[in-house]
Amino acid sequence: MIEEAAKLLARSRFAIAFTGAGISAESGVPTFRGFNGLWKKHRPEELATPEAFQKDPYLVWEFYKWRMDLIKSAKPNRAHYALAELEEMGILKAVITQNVDDLHREAGTRTLIELHGNIFRVRCTSCNYKENLKGSGRLEEFLAEKDLPRCPDCGSLLRPDVVWFGEPLPRRALHEAFRLAERADLVLVIGTSGVVYPAAYIPQIVKETGGKVIEINPDESGITPIADVFLRCPAGEAMEKLMRRVKGLIG
Ligand SMILES: [Zn+2]
Repeated sequence: MIEEAAKLLARSRFAIAFTGAGISAESGVPTFRGFNGLWKKHRPEELATPEAFQKDPYLVWEFYKWRMDLIKSAKPNRAHYALAELEEMGILKAVITQNVDDLHREAGTRTLIELHGNIFRVRCTSCNYKENLKGSGRLEEFLAEKDLPRCPDCGSLLRPDVVWFGEPLPRRALHEAFRLAERADLVLVIGTSGVVYPAAYIPQIVKETGGKVIEINPDESGITPIADVFLRCPAGEAMEKLMRRVKGLIG
């Protein structure tokens, strides 16, 4: 199976990767399901919504600061680094991710489409102000602040620049992801359930336009039925083996 996946990858001309929470599991990033689905007796589905933010921005910000604080110490794992290396080698053209944890960027991926935003970015609820707190070096100061965060330009509330339940995906990112999927002759699908639309269309588009689908997942998913190769394995282990074979093939 690894051999077949490595051959397809080495032969591809325009490969992309589509990743979900599973790729970050080895990095210890807590998913919404990872803390028994509860935070201080609240389900994340109740907190990660525009309605919750409107009703109680303090509570929602407390939840997000807690998540930022947990995720900031997570490090990319071998799967993130392997994808960055495949891009460096000219095989992989882009990574499309449903994760907000910034680990692909930290691993060195350059062409990155973040469909659900980024947990370290904030944006204004009224104007166009955006800030990447890691980039601006203000993350620690931001986490320590007790008052609600306000826009330095207009004074309105800032919110996390992530997609909440019930909100559409960012149009530009989605458009770019579909465009890449139409061009791709191979997609490496890693650690995603493949049941959340419209993101789940990405591997389907690749398949329908004649491309190959390689899936890496310890469990079967919504993608498995259309996968040409299914590597039933955790992401880090699979990517490490795959990289070794790809390098062997292209010498
Ligand atoms: Zn503003």
